[in-house]
Amino acid sequence: MNGERAGVEGPLMNIEIDDKSLMMIFLLEECNFTCAHCAREDEPMDPGYKLSFEQLQGCLSDCRNLKSINWVHFSGGEPTLWKEGNRDLVDLLLEIADAGYTPGFTSNGSLFVNYSRCRDFFARYFEGSTMPLRLYFSIDTFHKNYNPEKGRARSLDNIIKLKQEFPQAKADLLIISVMITVSKEVDSLLPDEMIDHYESLGIKIGFVPLYPIGRAKSFSHLCPDLDSDNPEELGAYRRYYKKEDRKRPGDAEDRLKTDHIILIGNDYYFSDPWHKVGQLGHLPDEIIGAYAGES
Ligand code: SF4
Repeated sequence: MNGERAGVEGPLMNIEIDDKSLMMIFLLEECNFTCAHCAREDEPMDPGYKLSFEQLQGCLSDCRNLKSINWVHFSGGEPTLWKEGNRDLVDLLLEIADAGYTPGFTSNGSLFVNYSRCRDFFARYFEGSTMPLRLYFSIDTFHKNYNPEKGRARSLDNIIKLKQEFPQAKADLLIISVMITVSKEVDSLLPDEMIDHYESLGIKIGFVPLYPIGRAKSFSHLCPDLDSDNPEELGAYRRYYKKEDRKRPGDAEDRLKTDHIILIGNDYYFSDPWHKVGQLGHLPDEIIGAYAGES
């Protein structure tokens, strides 16, 4: 395991999970980008880590006990690089869809800048499933995966083009979101016209603050300070920040909290800080109970 935030085991006590509809899976550690803000070194993935097809099947079996799960999502690394024998990411997405869950993945979009590879990828998915597919693209000044002069990203343009080629019922299966990382600096923002253009085409745009984790710790002075009472400390992220009471009633030291459960290899985790909470095929009753009766 890497880094000081690697998984810690301990008693479960009281648990609190924000999104009980989502099973997040870290698919592999490999990536073809070298972003300066990458968080991977603080995540409990060994170099070269890759989830196996068999482990995905084990996770889908566990999901049957987690009643409120309806979405199984891959993060990484770059999920489109996953291969095992003749299988690739499309096979994993179809396996999830066959199990009755909505599949999704987060990508830097590099596979889709080539139109024929983009078309082949989604044609195979459309042929194998009628389940919606959630695509999250990380596109911003840290990933450097758009043209700043034109205010366009070729990966998105190619997907918009292929949606026009396929019948509406197929095209509508793709639910596309872009997540933009914003630091304190105005230079980290994407052009307003670019955002308006893609929103007008039905793409959802979200903004996330740069967090001082992983490589971004080396320039933590650029990270918006969400805990400060001084709005200036949010910098350029200020226009996207929705203030919320970050301390929730009942917060206590003996409470374990997470946005969603995460599978890495054979182990399930809560994150921030990383905390191991179960293993494939052996989820504790406290976790199973937390997912009961919600949809
Ligand atoms: S694309 Fe994502 S996983 Fe790859 S280097 Fe950039 S931040 Fe890290």
